This record gives sequence, structure tokens and C-alpha cells, in this order.
Amino acid sequence: MRSLLDRLLAGTAPDASPCTHVEELPARPGTRVPWPEWVPDILRERLAAAGVIEPWRHQVDAAEFAHGGESVVVATGTASGKSLAYQLPGLAALLTDDRARVLYLAPTKALAGDQLRSLLELSVPGVRPATFDGDTPQDERDWVRAHANWVLTNPDMLHRTVLPSHERWASFFRRLRYVVIDECHAYRGLFGAHVSLVVRRLRRICAVYGCTPTFVLASATVAEPQVSAGRLTGVPVRAVTADASPHGATTFALWEPPLTSLRGEHDAPVRRAAGAEAGRLLADLVVEGRRTLAFVRSRRGAELTALTAQRHLAEAGLDELAARVSPYRAGYLPEERRAVEAALSSGALLGVAATNALELGLDVTGLDAVILAGFPGTLASLWQQAGRAGRAGAPSLVLFVARDDPLDTYLAHHPAAVFGRPVEANVFDPANPYVLAGQLCCAAAELPLRPADLDAFGGPAAEAVLDELVARGALRRRPAGWYWTARERPRADIRGAGGAPVAVVDGTSGALIGTVDAGAAHTQVHPGAVYLHQGRSYVVDELDLDAAAALVHAEAPDWSTSARELTDIAIVETSRSRSAGPVSVGFGTVDVANQVVGYLRLRISTGEFMDETPLDLPARELRTRAVWYTIDQDALDEVGLDASAVPGAAHAAEHAAIGLLPLFATCDRWDIGGVSTALHPDTGTPTVFVYDGHPGGAGFAERGHDRLLDWLTATRSAIESCECAAGCPSCVQSPKCGNGNEPLDKRGAITFLELVLTHLR
Ligand SMILES: [Zn+2]
Ligand SMILES: [Zn+2]
Repeated sequence: MRSLLDRLLAGTAPDASPCTHVEELPARPGTRVPWPEWVPDILRERLAAAGVIEPWRHQVDAAEFAHGGESVVVATGTASGKSLAYQLPGLAALLTDDRARVLYLAPTKALAGDQLRSLLELSVPGVRPATFDGDTPQDERDWVRAHANWVLTNPDMLHRTVLPSHERWASFFRRLRYVVIDECHAYRGLFGAHVSLVVRRLRRICAVYGCTPTFVLASATVAEPQVSAGRLTGVPVRAVTADASPHGATTFALWEPPLTSLRGEHDAPVRRAAGAEAGRLLADLVVEGRRTLAFVRSRRGAELTALTAQRHLAEAGLDELAARVSPYRAGYLPEERRAVEAALSSGALLGVAATNALELGLDVTGLDAVILAGFPGTLASLWQQAGRAGRAGAPSLVLFVARDDPLDTYLAHHPAAVFGRPVEANVFDPANPYVLAGQLCCAAAELPLRPADLDAFGGPAAEAVLDELVARGALRRRPAGWYWTARERPRADIRGAGGAPVAVVDGTSGALIGTVDAGAAHTQVHPGAVYLHQGRSYVVDELDLDAAAALVHAEAPDWSTSARELTDIAIVETSRSRSAGPVSVGFGTVDVANQVVGYLRLRISTGEFMDETPLDLPARELRTRAVWYTIDQDALDEVGLDASAVPGAAHAAEHAAIGLLPLFATCDRWDIGGVSTALHPDTGTPTVFVYDGHPGGAGFAERGHDRLLDWLTATRSAIESCECAAGCPSCVQSPKCGNGNEPLDKRGAITFLELVLTHLR
């Protein structure tokens, strides 16, 4: 594969090579172990018929824990056969006890559908799997409750339908042996907090019916899977992380497209767009006859990448090959999906460009090459996507093409962050008071909450929230506990962030396209915004805040939009603080005032800055959590940053730090925000804040506080490793900066961060 990489690089001078690093990941032989004795013969036979002759060690290790009644998380690579880890104990239980039940939770309906297919194909006698989701007809629901012994659903259904009507599921809960939580790294941020509390509600209901199920979780490779799985379930969890499945050797190259002569904001240089570079590489790999999948961030981007590849091939007179390249769209019917997957697996299609959103829904592995156009948001996703390449024994190539973004720059220049031990943890905070409030109401409506229940829901944090719910009249306090007395059910949107969502409506047909969280409406559906929904592109004509509606029309322009926000921040309460010489660090509750003041347009095909348009929207208030650090001006004076130099240095450091936090926590840079100031009224010194963009906090700022030294070290290196002269989108410029990226001092930021790091060490 090295020679293939050399051919891709042909024509570039060694000193101008876009390839910043090549990692050779050796072939891994795979370790088989015998079946555990408790696996019934008939199950072995069915698995053998499906091609599983002998299991891999990690599958058996995890299955043994589960069979022995210990909850377990298996965190190994894509295509390592994680499903066998829960299928073995689950199916064995159903075979030996016809009354036993298994509950399987997936983050998406498509994934639950794939699992159902796999169970049906095994056709183990006596096993009656069935999905239970929003599409299940009413008459079928009764059958599922009464007869299915392996029920596949999602946390939304559990929250909205199953738990509130637990009496109808009484016999199911009485016999529930295993709860499987698949792709559990998908539960992060506010959604993760909600799901963790839904799982606690599930455990409480099970306990009422006299059962204590064992949890089996499957996760992508993340840092501390044991910790996050334990936090998700609230029970002690064992972890199995050593992947014993075989994999061919992989050549993994980091790739940074060159700066172009195009100019961005403040005349900053612009890098060749990752999508365009990916299109060119896709064409080259197709010419080589390699089955290649390219992951791109947006559907428009995926289409442009496929088009770019087709154009390159057509220009070379290779029309037959151009016809074997295709974009892969969201919204495909299951049959259409399988047709594309089959065509790619057989080689009928050679090149496919898909969006990151399809990562979970795509059933394709064993490819010759994978291109990642831009960091997919988390390292877990990066490895999921990279894992599509390579069959047992066959070598493969993975190319990570960096986008114009500080984190991508950092990764392109710091291979250890990609190939070393993962530092990114799956982060969410079950103690978020806003999430707790809704979830405690739901729990009380299912069955009155007893004081003894509170430990499972966070103890003192839950008690404080309950007091407030009683004061507000939402719950009633009686000697025995807390009661929900209203006639209608409590409402809690587990995928939302609170507040009435804004409806996105097609202005011509009046059709409802989707909804946007109240808190995100100003940044996502302001007038002129390009709004993506399930891969389709719309442009917003009007945002009516009183009616909570955005009117849009279908249009897919060659630009994306990015809202610019002005932010004010005030410290409400400091939960943790420490100081080191002239530097002090804090974490706590803050009030943030945000105002969207305009938006800018960026050309998708080139990354070029087009223009900026002002907007007139009201400010919004947000109570959330933040991490901050301060430095005395005297110490800054000593390293040559006088009062006039501090605003640019601190501002540049803040932007880059926001870009780098997703390396340590599973957040998107849009989930967090920042403020930097040369003199903050609450601290009296130069201060940099980074806050969670969701009410009550989602755990990201806290993770930043806990990993501050590593985070700021990475931030400084990201700025240092960008070759631009005075700051660009790859290092210190931010597309959402409300101050139009002014002032920004790239060199000053390095000095500023170095000073902070010297004292923190
Ligand atoms: Zn730069
Ligand atoms: Zn800014």
C-alpha cells in the first residue's frame, strides 16, 4: 500500500508534499478461543451455519462476564464482531429458559433493523425477535409485548412509550435478563444525560417487578469506556478492550492540503478544500481499481466530492470509470441502501462519497481504501470510518484529509493524538439540573419517587431539583415521597435542549420539514442560513420568533453559512478553583448572554470566504457551566504582552482552545462557546472562558477543566504547527466569531498559553 501512496503523491515535490505522516499499522492475526461450555449446541450449529466457526477472545471474554451476571462493555474496532458478545449470553439465556427476555437498545431505527435481520437469519429455535419502534403498528405492539423474547427498540421509545405503560409490560420486566446498549458512544452531551436517566428509570421499574438485568454495552474505541458505561447505566461495569479479531495491514496517511492563493477574511490564506482534495484522491484510487469510500461532512460536500472525482475521470477519458463513482445519500430506502452497499462490496461501484451522518447506517466493510475528508467530530467516529477499510489478510489504505480547522491542523501534525492511546472520553452529565427536572417528573409519573430511589438519580443533586419542582407545583411532596398529580404526562424531549422547538416549514408547500432547538434557532435558521436536514439543503427566508417558525425553500447553493455571535458571561458560582502563581483556574456556573449579529458565507468547493451579512436578532440568556483561567497582567507584562497586546493574544488562544476541546470530550465545536477579555469584571484580570452551549451544561467544560493542562498544551501546538503568517481558519480564526476575528494575535497567543502552561505544570 506504500507504493500506492507513493503513486498518489507523484508529481508533488518532497518539500511540498501534502502528506504529513504515514503510520504503518501492522496486520493483526486474530485470536480464537473455544466456545464457552454454557453455549448450547444448537446455538453453535446456527452460528456455524452463519459462518462463525469459533469466536474471538474479546467476544468470549465479554460474553463470560455477562453470563456470570456482571455488566460489561466491549469497546473494540469496527467489524470486530461486537454483536456476538451480547448475542451469545442473550441467545443462550433464551434457549435455556423460554420465559427469559432480552431488551436491545440502538441509537437509530436503521441499526435496530440491521440487528433484527441478523437475528432472523440465525433463526435460533424458540427465539422470537421483534422491533418495537414508532413504525410498529398498534395491533403488532400487543404481540411484541406478549410474545417477543428479544425486543429491539431505542431510548426514545423506552422513554415515551414503554416505561410510562410499564404495567402492560409487567411480564416482560419480570423476566428481563439482559439489557443490550449498542453503539453506546452515541449517547453523549445532553442526549447522553437524558439516556442515562432513562436507563435509571428502567432499572427502577425492573426492581419493582423483582428483576435486576445485566447490562451488555458495545462501544467504539474511546478513553475510559468503563467510566462512561458505568455513568450511563449507574451500575459497576467491566470493560473488554483488547480487540482479538484479525485485520490486514493498514497504511494510514495524514494529509494536509496546501494553502492556495485564494484569500479569506482579513486576507488570511485559504487551504484547498478537503472535499475537493478528497475528490481528486478518490479519482486516483478508482483509476487504480481500488474500492474506495470517502466520508465527507455534508451531503452537498459528498455530492461535490463525487462530482469532482467523476470530472477528473471524464477529463482523463475514463468515462466507464466515472460511471462507477456515486454519492451515497441519506433518505435512501433500506432496499436502495443495500443495493449501493452490495454494488460497492462486489466492485460494480468503485468509488462512493457518503456523509458522516451515514456512518452508523452503512453496512460496508472490507474496502481497499477509505478517505476521511475532514475530522468527523470524534476519534471514535474516525476509527469507525477507517475500520471500513481492510479485509482479514488484505492490506488497505486510509487517508485523513485535514480541513481548514484548528483540530484538523493539530491532528495532521500530531500523529500521536490519532495513533496513541485515545484521550477522548464519551462525555455527558447525568446531574444536569434541567435534564434531571424533566426526567424526575417522568419517573414520578411512572411510580411515585421514594426517598430510597434518589441515590440512583444523583442523590443531593436530585434532591435540590425535587425541592424546586415541588416549589413550582410540578410535583407534590407527601410523607411517602414525590408524586406527579397532573392528568397529562410530563414532557421531556430527550433529543432536545429544552424550550419550545422552532418549526422549520417549507414556505411554498407549508410542509413541516423538521424542528430546531429553541437555543440553536438563532444560529441555525436565521434568515439566509443554509439549513441541512437529513442531507437535504434548504435556504431560510424568514425566522418568525413569535410564531417559533422558520420559513425555508429547497436550495443547495455552493456555500455554507456560519452565524456570528457576540457573547457576555458572568460567573454565578465557582464550584472548583485553584491557583498557581499568577494563574488561576475555575469551574462553575455562569450566565451567558448570546446575540447572533450576522452570518458569513463560505464557498464549499474552495473554502473561500465570500461575504458577511448583518442580522438583527435579540440576545438570549443561558445558565450553564464553564471553565476559565486568569493571568495577572504583571506576569503578562514580563513576557512582553502589555495591556494593549492581551486582547488579541487571549482571543486567539480562546478560539483555538474551542477548536481543540473535541479532542478530549465527544463534543462538536458548535456545542461549546468562549469569551476572552483583557479585564473581566468578575475576576479583575485577563480571563478566558469556555462554556457549554446547552442549559445546565453537558459535561464538556468540566472535562476541559479536568484535562486543562493537556488541552492547552494541544492548543498551543496546534497554533504553532500552522504555517500561516498571522492566523488563518486552520489555527486561530473562528467562523462563528462575533467580533469578525478581530483582534487576533497568533504569536501572542503562543506566548500567552506558554505562560499559563509554565505555571500550571
Ligand atoms: Zn494558520
Ligand atoms: Zn472571537
